[in-house]
Amino acid sequence: MTMIQVENLKKAFGDNEVLKGIDLTIDKSEVVVIMGPSGSGKSTLLRCLNFLEEPTEGVIQIGEYQVHAGGKIDRQRKKVIRELRKKTGFVFQSFNLFPHKTAIENIMEGPIAIHGMKPEEAKKVAEVLLAKVGLGDRSDHFPAQLSGGQQQRVAIARSLALNPLVMLFDEPTSALDPELVREVLLVIKSLAEEGMTMVIVTHEMNFAKEVADRVVFMDEGVIVEQGTSKEIFLHSKEERTKQFLYQVE
Ligand code: ADP
Ligand code: MG
Repeated sequence: MTMIQVENLKKAFGDNEVLKGIDLTIDKSEVVVIMGPSGSGKSTLLRCLNFLEEPTEGVIQIGEYQVHAGGKIDRQRKKVIRELRKKTGFVFQSFNLFPHKTAIENIMEGPIAIHGMKPEEAKKVAEVLLAKVGLGDRSDHFPAQLSGGQQQRVAIARSLALNPLVMLFDEPTSALDPELVREVLLVIKSLAEEGMTMVIVTHEMNFAKEVADRVVFMDEGVIVEQGTSKEIFLHSKEERTKQFLYQVE
């Protein structure tokens, strides 16, 4: 079953065409790792997937929610975009937690504000998720009292609280000290094992080898090649891929 479908996605900022016609189909429970040089359009692609960025051209479908770029901006379209966003968890490089809320309050906020859940119920959901990311004993800590790795795990739990169909990660470990990277990757790996559909932008090659069903290599706004981690890391066909991998290794 297809979960994400991207057709002829283009995005320009003024004269700068950053995405030049991306086609990508991702199955339910598939884990896709996107790699590529800085500036190749990886973040823009993720942001277009949930319309944080409005594409210039193309069609995005996540689950049952389909949006055409440049479509007439009416109430119906806005509603579909809102639904599509709700169903898409997004975890950034910076953790973006509310600093004045505790870990558990950060997770409860979405279900209460967006799903209209009762606070007691949201608290139960949040407790389960905190335990899941290994922070059951940190629920009353404020972000500043948590390490970067712990904050990022709270951020992941916060996204999961909205019960997303897919999770998008944009370099989730690149702001972390090296010793904190693993704990975050293990949480993402556990989500993969549970069958979460995920698109992960990362430079962590070993992690990609562990979790990726597919590795997509992007450069200059196009998908240069894609395949299993073995196909891409050991037997890449394209010169651009080889050069990139040679540099990051
Ligand atoms: P990556 O994540 O692969 O490093 P990005 O998607 O962040 O690449 O950026 C791709 C290109 O798009 C860059 O040239 C960047 O300057 C440009 N870009 C990204 N966001 C914006 C924006 N909001 N306005 C103008 N240009 C942007
Ligand atoms: Mg980026």
